Amino acid sequence: MTQLADRFHAITSQINTIDRPLGQSVHLLAVSKTRTSDEIKEVHQLGQKAFGENYIQEATDKIQQLKDYDIEWHFIGPLQSNKSRLAAEHFDWVHTIDRLKIAQRLSDQRPQDMPSLNVCIQVNIDQEESKSGFLAQEVIEAALKINQLPRLTLRGLMAIPKATDDPEQQRLSLSRMHDLFTSVKAALSEQNQPAEAFDTLSMGMSGDMETAIQCGATIVRIGTAIFGPRPAKTK
Ligand SMILES: *Cc1c(COP(=O)(O)O)cnc(C)c1O
Repeated sequence: MTQLADRFHAITSQINTIDRPLGQSVHLLAVSKTRTSDEIKEVHQLGQKAFGENYIQEATDKIQQLKDYDIEWHFIGPLQSNKSRLAAEHFDWVHTIDRLKIAQRLSDQRPQDMPSLNVCIQVNIDQEESKSGFLAQEVIEAALKINQLPRLTLRGLMAIPKATDDPEQQRLSLSRMHDLFTSVKAALSEQNQPAEAFDTLSMGMSGDMETAIQCGATIVRIGTAIFGPRPAKTK
């Protein structure tokens, strides 16, 4: 087996052994930013369907090259307004809704012959200057609006907590995300809005996957632990 296959199998078996006190199912999103189409094909051949990309231009090139493969594409990078149309036309999911304007544009620009676009609201859970996303106290109001946009399906919340190696520090932010997820779901129901599709908590990367799953993550976004260290970004 190749190193890539070894790492992929190690991650999928690890995901299955981590305890889940909340009993949720967990899906692996293979984060393929900066990786080649050939590397994506190799992981796809091992049974992986969902891939995450950060850079719109790089991603749309790869989506075009891999259009004959049954891949579900997730956009997980910062989205500029002038790139929203590309995201609306090429992706199945956008995890990084960080302002209402971008949600409105994606809904307006989603082609009629495609299913509605799955979206998550990005939460700046540790209130970091350097990170985008809604603050926790803004999320319910945003969710009630985004959930009504006709061409979007609001699937849940996403976060990139403050980087730390300390699992207890990680746990504090990740469990605040789970609490927020529960509050938003309750608020949707209280307002008689559809809440069944709101089932996703996108959190956990190579460095905090285990804690994220213990805290209720339903999608973990894993790059380096599958593909190895990322080559330096060139564009
Ligand atoms: C790059 C990236 C990941 C994957 O990170 P790794 O540490 O390589 O697993 C996950 N989420 C987002 C938003 C990313 O940009």
